[in-house]
Amino acid sequence: MQKIGNFSKGKTMLTMKELEWDKLTFSVIATDYMYVAQCMSGRQWEQGNLVPYGDIAISPASGVLNYGQGVFEGLKAYRSQDGDKVFLFRPQLNAERMSDGCRRLCMPPIPEDVFMEGVTEVVKANQPYIPPYRPGASSQAALYLRPLLWGTGSILGVAPAPSYTFLVFASPVGPYFKGGLTPIKLQVSEEYYRAMPGGSGCVKAIGNYAPGMLAAKSAKKIGFSEIIYLDVRENRYVEEVGAANFFCVKGNTLFTPELDGCILPGITRRSVIHLAREMKMQVKEERLAIDSAIDADEAFASGTAAVISPIGSISYKGKEYVFNGGKIGAKTQKFYNTMVGIQHGLIPDSYGWIYEVDL
Ligand SMILES: *Cc1c(COP(=O)(O)O)cnc(C)c1O
Repeated sequence: MQKIGNFSKGKTMLTMKELEWDKLTFSVIATDYMYVAQCMSGRQWEQGNLVPYGDIAISPASGVLNYGQGVFEGLKAYRSQDGDKVFLFRPQLNAERMSDGCRRLCMPPIPEDVFMEGVTEVVKANQPYIPPYRPGASSQAALYLRPLLWGTGSILGVAPAPSYTFLVFASPVGPYFKGGLTPIKLQVSEEYYRAMPGGSGCVKAIGNYAPGMLAAKSAKKIGFSEIIYLDVRENRYVEEVGAANFFCVKGNTLFTPELDGCILPGITRRSVIHLAREMKMQVKEERLAIDSAIDADEAFASGTAAVISPIGSISYKGKEYVFNGGKIGAKTQKFYNTMVGIQHGLIPDSYGWIYEVDL
């Protein structure tokens, strides 16, 4: 692979691409560069390099292809209103979570400095693809960053691979759910489960996601946006909304399932909880029965991709339960505005959540 010198100051006179920014969806648009670092057998992680974005060659006997030894992350680069600054949102937490995933899947944890160099170099090198800030509720355009880490080396018996690769690529994206802030319709899955105690549900293991595709596909075919997973033990407690965390509001109380090992600890989730406490709401992180959730005043899903997605209704055992007349609730709107405002630098960040990329 051709190596490109890392981008430094003075090399940033890159002109914006002419993409139809308003029409972006959550899908891959190839950008110019990606970042690749290696951890060779028995060694430490080495610093990586930018390389042209493109296909990679991998051994047919690699750990990731045979046994699913891989984790991923997802974060966004947001442009400021005036366009000349670019922000990441709590990226160190993504680095930490990726390392947690590495430990769970017997892979060498990625050092925070390599992770941070990967994401910042990819942002800098792909600046022309960072969407401009557009005010308005449906604008969720950003440069999505996808760090990956997988077992590269050959292995035949079920065991950790001898070597590993860390790669970051980027794609400009729009809203995850069609319509942006339009409330979504969800169906409770009574057939499929996402995670189990002692499993890998609490890390972004690549193997966690394919098993949910069949469930989501059949729900989408009959008009739902996503499914809600319940716990596997009692088939009663809410876990997640596809690949986003679940919240509901009753009066001045915010409810979300506790991190019991089956829930992915979302960075958006953690931030919403913090904001709720600042807003003097009561926060209950505990087991959340579906019967109680469907009775809430408002509900929403949270995630980097989903941002704050209002839930219009939930179908459970063939009955539809509508929240707030199918419209976005006041508290949900407030969380959305605050999160998006901080992410784009419109609202002062008093929490130290924003990481400005040194372009
Ligand atoms: C990534 C992910 C989330 C959201 O996490 P954020 O850090 O907020 O983006 C929630 N649930 C699942 C299953 C996920 O994979």
